Amino acid sequence: MLGWKVLGILLAGLGLVGYGYWMLRGRYDRPPSQHLMIERAFFKCDRCAGFQGGNYGKGPLEYFPTPPSRKCRHAWVRIPEDEFKKLKASAAAPR
Ligand SMILES: [Zn+2]
Repeated sequence: MLGWKVLGILLAGLGLVGYGYWMLRGRYDRPPSQHLMIERAFFKCDRCAGFQGGNYGKGPLEYFPTPPSRKCRHAWVRIPEDEFKKLKASAAAPR
């Protein structure tokens, strides 16, 4: 039956579009991967100035994105906890 064929092609097309979208979206705003499975670590992005850190693997994690973070292909750089605390303090302070 033609109807089922068309429906199948439509579904396959939708699946492909969804997969493509997921692949594209997945490239942006990714968490750092330079930490161990379970590790207390802190990172800052060189590109968008977003930063995050905490206990990877078991939490809690804190993430402070900047407006460009959502479309950023982050260049995560490991930072010491002291610097993370400073960044956090300045992010929380009213401007
Ligand atoms: Zn970034």
